[in-house]
Amino acid sequence: MTVVILKPHKEESLKRFHPWVFSGAIARVVLDAAHKAAAPEEGEPVTVLSAANEVLGVGHWQVGSIAVRILAFGVAELPEDFWHERIRAAYRVREALGLIRTENDTFRLVHGEGDFLPGLIVDIYAETAVIQAHSVGMHVCRQRIAEAILAEVPQVKNIYYKSDDTLPFKAEISEPKVGYLITDRSADRTQNTDQITDEFWSTENGLCFRIDWLRGQKTGFFIDQRENRALVERYARGKDVLNMFCYTGGFSLYALRGGAKSVDSVDVSQKAIDLVNVNVARNFPQAANHTAVAADAFEYLTAQKAKGCTYDLIILDPPAFAKHRDAVKNALRGYQRINAKAIEMIRPGGILFTFSCSQAVDKEAFRLAVFSAAAQVGRKVRILHQLHQPQDHPINIYHPEGEYLKGLVLFVE
Ligand code: SAH
Repeated sequence: MTVVILKPHKEESLKRFHPWVFSGAIARVVLDAAHKAAAPEEGEPVTVLSAANEVLGVGHWQVGSIAVRILAFGVAELPEDFWHERIRAAYRVREALGLIRTENDTFRLVHGEGDFLPGLIVDIYAETAVIQAHSVGMHVCRQRIAEAILAEVPQVKNIYYKSDDTLPFKAEISEPKVGYLITDRSADRTQNTDQITDEFWSTENGLCFRIDWLRGQKTGFFIDQRENRALVERYARGKDVLNMFCYTGGFSLYALRGGAKSVDSVDVSQKAIDLVNVNVARNFPQAANHTAVAADAFEYLTAQKAKGCTYDLIILDPPAFAKHRDAVKNALRGYQRINAKAIEMIRPGGILFTFSCSQAVDKEAFRLAVFSAAAQVGRKVRILHQLHQPQDHPINIYHPEGEYLKGLVLFVE
């Protein structure tokens, strides 16, 4: 196997279980005999040694500033049953957390570094697992990962691979980045069509959602808001609710179940709005108090305000405004703008749930943006809850970069 030798003292962070080796920490690379090229191939497993020849671990080689993502510390090679062992461990944690129940078959099985599998995401929707690779190393291992999931997760029968948006865009990959890796019904499932031909339903806390992993965003659903949706349910009784950036209506269904007087769901994507309507019809066939509109959030809020419209409870769950560090400044302006618009439209004594899923914007910066919005509008605002990502999106304590979702629940006087 190829061996990566670090510069003196560069082993410290690995000894503290931080799973990345930066290219600047590497003294030299000793290729194994099988190599024709002058460098390791992206995605190949490499052994990492300290300058003093101590074995630090084994990981996947990457092109870029993160050169190796460590899979196992303190060993020179991956154990034979590595994938089975890691997937089993991840499953056991979800089981212990009480996330796997008849009324809840939707959960994240693997959250990258948070489950000691850097570069890998696996979401479970009833009988289907959706795998997303963020590294070529995980791409190379996808079939072995799929087989381990099939063996270790009793509910799973189909495994879909969806990495077209997540693999490093410069990586030279000839194999398909989307498609079923394992299926119990191979016909009709491998093609992307524009219609929703298959009806896949998944249950979250007793609410049914149609999940479209073929055309949907991310792996098909935003599992990370499950606990925060449950909190909306608690506050929804008798309220006029606006669910902004609703996607397939997660918060809307919880608000309806919580006894909201009315719920308006808004998203710029018509496909998302079609799914909101399907989901509401399935869970609340009698509901006459829900409307769904495809519109841009900023334009919608401006138009509603001009009409004098106000709400008791607003949810703002925008997409990541900052995808990179250099976009943070603009993102903060965006958060301030949208929050100011929402705060303006809250009735006295109303509540705002506001979120940021930008990893590059930390919770202090986000809070400051929301504070600036409140000050700009001149309302008296108190923080009721500080929210974050749920327990199936764990943060490896040695890898704080894994923290991304934060939210505030505000009481607006
Ligand atoms: N709250 C959702 C997840 C939101 S993801 C849930 O619980 O599932 C962010 C959503 O914002 C996406 O569905 C995307 O289509 C939508 N979006 C992006 N830009 C938008 C804009 N300018 N106006 C309205 N919606 C937008």
